Amino acid sequence: MALNSQPDKQWSQPATTIEKVRASGKLVVVGFGYMSAVFTCKVLADQRLHRYPLEILVVHDGLDVASDLSGGFLMPFLSSDTKNPDRATQSFHDTEFLDDAGLSHYRDPLQTLFVSQEEQVYVPPGHPGRATIIDPSDYGLPAYSLGAHLDEGGVLSMCALMPRLRAYIAAHASVRVLRRTVHSIFDVTELAADFGATTVCIAAGARARFLLNRDIPYGDLGVLLRGSYDDLSEIHKRFVIMDEDSEARLAYMIPHRECRHALFGGTTGTLLTEESDWIALREGQIDLRRAPGYARDAMRDIRERILDQMPVLAPALPKNYEPGTYAFGIRPRAARVIVERLTYDLTHGLDVVHINGLGGSGITIAPAVAQEALDYHLLDEEDEGDGDEKARKESSS
Ligand SMILES: Cc1cc2nc3c(=O)[nH]c(=O)nc-3n(C[C@H](O)[C@H](O)[C@H](O)COP(=O)(O)OP(=O)(O)OC[C@H]3O[C@@H](n4cnc5c(N)ncnc54)[C@H](O)[C@@H]3O)c2cc1C
Repeated sequence: MALNSQPDKQWSQPATTIEKVRASGKLVVVGFGYMSAVFTCKVLADQRLHRYPLEILVVHDGLDVASDLSGGFLMPFLSSDTKNPDRATQSFHDTEFLDDAGLSHYRDPLQTLFVSQEEQVYVPPGHPGRATIIDPSDYGLPAYSLGAHLDEGGVLSMCALMPRLRAYIAAHASVRVLRRTVHSIFDVTELAADFGATTVCIAAGARARFLLNRDIPYGDLGVLLRGSYDDLSEIHKRFVIMDEDSEARLAYMIPHRECRHALFGGTTGTLLTEESDWIALREGQIDLRRAPGYARDAMRDIRERILDQMPVLAPALPKNYEPGTYAFGIRPRAARVIVERLTYDLTHGLDVVHINGLGGSGITIAPAVAQEALDYHLLDEEDEGDGDEKARKESSS
């Protein structure tokens, strides 16, 4: 590892996460989804700017990663946190980490059609671009009575981007990646002690509820059918098509140019709480016959919604249910995004920043959330019992 350079500046009283990292030069990151990848890229960019010795240990187990399965649509939808529109706006132009990694071409500047069978079409606050009312029939979607066209937008081809983003980070001289499941906060503190780090970031998605032994976040099941981009007509390759009439029955098509997928999704309204749910869905991912009935039903439901409401897109639906043509993804859901310091009694005095609850717009808001976590004032909190308790209260409200 290249650890020879000296800090170009002294920080007298490190108080925020990034100041602690600068001062100690060591960081452990648990998780390697999009959230932790963006967080890590931002630390690496800070190190490049300020030139301090840095070693990062990234620990992850590669299981149930929501990010790789995500639609990658940059839009603050499915989100109950009132700060998310601002986070989305801030994140939309925060693309430096993709440029640094040479991966900007995985972001496609697609426009969006919101379509509705109601008398009004809902467009989430914080969306990019200008909205203009359109007639969905003009786009081959006569099942809808009303639509809104957004003239700016973005989609990340996540299944192609994520392995490359991980490879970029793993190849960095300051980074070591360890493939391992951590079972408790005790495991995390032991790893940090062995590595010599006093600052840790945990961004472990929905399964953090087991790692931290708490009742939030929930796992929010999303189902995707992975069809063929090449079977979309030319006009439909240019737009994300989103029917958000009902959150529990969301239907969309997101074209992924780089990986040649047309992603058909949805929500299922199913909240998961038991480890056995994760195991069953993992098995169903390999063999659909082993998937839980609720997941198979949700998949059938999404296909029917597309056939009923967007039949013009039907040729691009997957023709069978071979592995790879469908995905069960688990969104980390809480009432609000969680950025908190875990209590010192839990962490044996380590500074552990926990990021979670990104929900259905985690890709959209990750850059802003990463920045919040870096700027998080660890000394602001009451010393004990605050972070955990606060997150619990907020998430149950
Ligand atoms: C079907 C679907 C479609 C979506 N579409 C969109 C969209 O269009 N736009 C958008 O903005 N968002 C979308 N989202 C939401 C977005 O994908 C998530 O909010 C985001 O990916 C969460 O990222 P994360 O890094 O927090 O979690 P994850 O991607 O789940 O990563 C968790 C990481 O933690 C690791 N980990 C967990 N537990 C342990 C452990 N005990 N030990 C070691 N490692 C562990 C895992 O291996 C993984 O690396 C979608 C989600 C789904 C499921």
